[in-house]
Amino acid sequence: MSGLEGGCLCGSIRYRIEGEPDPRLQITCHCRDCQQVTGAGHARSMGVPADSVIWTGQPKVYEIQHENSTVDTAFCDTCGSPLYKRTSNLAPLVFFHVGSLDYECGADWRSKRTVYDERRQPWDVLEGGNEG
Ligand SMILES: [Zn+2]
Ligand SMILES: [Zn+2]
Repeated sequence: MSGLEGGCLCGSIRYRIEGEPDPRLQITCHCRDCQQVTGAGHARSMGVPADSVIWTGQPKVYEIQHENSTVDTAFCDTCGSPLYKRTSNLAPLVFFHVGSLDYECGADWRSKRTVYDERRQPWDVLEGGNEG
């Protein structure tokens, strides 16, 4: 997967990821932030170096304050689509929501790791593997 591209629902924000993303950073996250940001039970994301991303348009960033970290959640301020999250604990990386990738670009994504499983909602049962 190289030269990945994606964007928001309305098309006013586009991004391109240069280089080859590290497949170990393909993550399923059940943390409470991800539940609220996505409106679903978990987020599926891909971590890439922040400086490997070329943007067209500027996402809006909302800062979530935690006791030991700050998490930025970036979204389109026109259509509201979530684009990425970034935590101060892993500041060189941005974690793109896989659903924001162009359809064919996201097809090869597979979860390699599940985090915050203890926050998983009882109804959020993933069928057919790919649990990470
Ligand atoms: Zn948009
Ligand atoms: Zn999360």
